[in-house]
Amino acid sequence: MKILGIETSCDETGVAIYDSEKGIIGDALYSQVELHAEYGGVVPELASRDHVRKTIPLVQEVLKQANCNQDDIDAIAYTKGPGLIGALFVGAGVGRSLAYAWDIPAVGVHHMEGHLLAPMLEDDKPEFPFVALLVSGGHTLLVDVENLGQYHILGESIDDAAGEAFDKTAKIMGLGYPGGPALAKLAEKGRAGIYKLPRPMTDRPGLDFSFSGLKTAVANLYNSSDKSEQSLADIAYAFQEAVVDTIFIKCRRALEQAGRNRLVVSGGVSANVALRAKLSDLLESKGGKAYYPRPKFCTDNGAMIAYAGFCRYQAILKGQGEFEEPAVRAKPRWPIAELS
Ligand code: ATP
Ligand code: MG
Ligand code: FE
Repeated sequence: MKILGIETSCDETGVAIYDSEKGIIGDALYSQVELHAEYGGVVPELASRDHVRKTIPLVQEVLKQANCNQDDIDAIAYTKGPGLIGALFVGAGVGRSLAYAWDIPAVGVHHMEGHLLAPMLEDDKPEFPFVALLVSGGHTLLVDVENLGQYHILGESIDDAAGEAFDKTAKIMGLGYPGGPALAKLAEKGRAGIYKLPRPMTDRPGLDFSFSGLKTAVANLYNSSDKSEQSLADIAYAFQEAVVDTIFIKCRRALEQAGRNRLVVSGGVSANVALRAKLSDLLESKGGKAYYPRPKFCTDNGAMIAYAGFCRYQAILKGQGEFEEPAVRAKPRWPIAELS
């Protein structure tokens, strides 16, 4: 079967087709990054309007890529939440309408379940159960995953998400928006041991995170530095090392607590090379394995929504959950723990 997936929760319009025999057979993404860059953050209303312009053209593009027409599509999956309400309504409106017009079922997908399942699109995919670390622009979650829909939250950020910490720190250092990838790139030229930043909340038990203090620490370092290229690289290095170390310590604890030796890492920050290296080493030392999406499926994309939609479609056929009625609903706030 073939599922068309639509992602519009934030500032990326993503559309893809997942074929249960062949995998992803069409995949297109339009990023609004340049549109929002001059404002230093996502402007919700501009995001909605741009999704309106791009969603249908991307649907046409992926159908062409996959050599399909509308009769070949068995269901439509769209991101139902969480995200920006206006942006969600565009994807939900287009997705639900296409399903109505084509007379096929519509599946409303949880955006974070999309991220969580993204590594399943790789050849070497994880089997349930596993611990998942979801590190994105809006979330930092450690989840014990028994099976599809069986999610136990082990820990989360009490303030900034990991990606948000990267972006805000990058902004302080004048690296533009969104600065996460630029900060990571700058850190490659940094030297170890020049600056030392704290590893927040690692000296006490528990699996929650706090990243907001790090940006203040970086602001102090930055303001008192000579702002030479090398100093900036050294500060970036110290910041990234602190975030990676903190995540490493919490993941090690989470794996021990849950008794797992498989770790799934997903969301935008899972593209970070230093984080991947450290977590892969950790899992190797435990005789287990860390699993990641390919870099382009770490950040928002239609493929993960098409795939999660496929999994949910199968579950609905088994009596778990329901297809979306021809009504348009979206949830800007939707804790993943509410899923069954
Ligand atoms: P959410 O999924 O929580 O709703 P989002 O969809 O906006 O948030 P993603 O698209 O998954 O988030 O990820 C974007 C985030 O990932 C940004 O904060 C970005 O800076 C960060 N990011 C991307 N690449 C890297 C990298 N190499 N190193 C660190 N951070 C990165
Ligand atoms: Mg984004
Ligand atoms: Fe996301």
